[in-house]
Amino acid sequence: MERKLIKDTIAAIATAPGRGGIGVVRVSGSALAAFAECLSGRKPQARLAAVATFKSADGHAIDQGIQLYFPAPHSFTGEDVLELQGHGGPVVMQLLLQRCVELGARLAEPGEFSRRAYLNDKLDLAQAEAVADLIEASTAAAARSALRSLSGEFSREVQVLLNGLIELRMLVEATLDFPDEEIDVRDTDAVQRMARLVAAVAGLRDRARQGSLLRNGLHVVIAGQPNVGKSSLLNRLAGVDRAIVTDIAGTTRDVLRETIQIEGIPLHIVDTAGLRVANDEVERIGIERTWKEIERADLVLQVVDATQGITEADDEITSRLPAKVPRVVVENKTDLAGKSSACFEVAGARHVLLSAKSGDGVDLLRSELLRVAGWHEHGEDVVLARQRHLDALAEVADRLDAAGKKLTEIEFCAEELRLAQAALSRITGEFLADDLLGEIFSRFCIGK
Ligand code: GDP
Repeated sequence: MERKLIKDTIAAIATAPGRGGIGVVRVSGSALAAFAECLSGRKPQARLAAVATFKSADGHAIDQGIQLYFPAPHSFTGEDVLELQGHGGPVVMQLLLQRCVELGARLAEPGEFSRRAYLNDKLDLAQAEAVADLIEASTAAAARSALRSLSGEFSREVQVLLNGLIELRMLVEATLDFPDEEIDVRDTDAVQRMARLVAAVAGLRDRARQGSLLRNGLHVVIAGQPNVGKSSLLNRLAGVDRAIVTDIAGTTRDVLRETIQIEGIPLHIVDTAGLRVANDEVERIGIERTWKEIERADLVLQVVDATQGITEADDEITSRLPAKVPRVVVENKTDLAGKSSACFEVAGARHVLLSAKSGDGVDLLRSELLRVAGWHEHGEDVVLARQRHLDALAEVADRLDAAGKKLTEIEFCAEELRLAQAALSRITGEFLADDLLGEIFSRFCIGK
């Protein structure tokens, strides 16, 4: 329905803000050959790069660059698309964009190009999301996984499950249609089909959960008393494993943040103010922030000094840690304490003995972090899932479970299978409400 409403032409600067060798303004809509001719005086040829001078309304040159024209439907959005490559300065790009607006385009909303691609069946929703995830990937493993989703691997797996589910529904609903025949669905191969589906959904869920780790990473807080070696540990972890992207938008500098990677999983690590009873106001505020960070963490690394052992002050910290947040105790400074590196469990808590200074035992900590995160070795088949996908797969699993338990109450079973299919279809974007689509695409950046 919305497809018919798309008439207007949209434009946006598609390259990152700031200065660069090249900047690109992307335009999508209809009748863009004429649009390009107005802009540059050159009639564009399909998919042929041509040098062009982009001109203002009064004929002054704005920039000299390359004009590329992709006529519908063979373009990213499925509409006519123009890519205007100019020099990548913010002023030049703004002037070029402004000129496109004068020629009848309007400024694109975030994610609007991808949204049009989706509405024109160029990409399904999972693929459109993969475009955003590829751009935002902070490790090489996450980027590889996003690219696999973009090429449709994830969608194909979902489609295979959907086909299986539809066949099962047909079988179950056939018994509904002929109640007089008294077919017991348990006498058909529905049971085996159901079992195969349950196993396939479980497998995909597992790989999607792993993918979600790759995409979002893990929020780790390093906490402990002053001088136990928290900063040294952060430096040691970051030293070799720094992720490609280390900037996290909106961070304050009073707590130190670093994004590192372990086997491709981004770990967003926060080194906090030492936790102790503070005398001065500034330190007190720092400590308050630390507790807030801890509340939000996926994992707390509680560092203690191995030369002192676990002190009363450490116990005091432990007692205040929220029970819902997993904890790994790091006994640091083994070099001073004359101890060897080790990893063991004490009263339900994992302990790692290491030296942040020498690096001894740090590998044990890395493995422990991966274990707590739930990461296990996969080939190249992890799917870069979003929470939305995980929720949908969880619902499918629950519905299949409910259906399996009610094979004798055939109407109930059929309804659960119908709902399972609806949940699965949401991943690729069939039957998705417009407002939900709007919500998904609004998180994309402009020009995407
Ligand atoms: P924080 O206050 O907990 O962040 O502690 P720091 O990382 O600033 O370390 C406090 C002091 O302990 C510094 O002088 C470090 O050089 C020292 N230190 C940290 N880790 C080790 C370690 O594993 N072995 C030794 N010998 N010294 C360490």
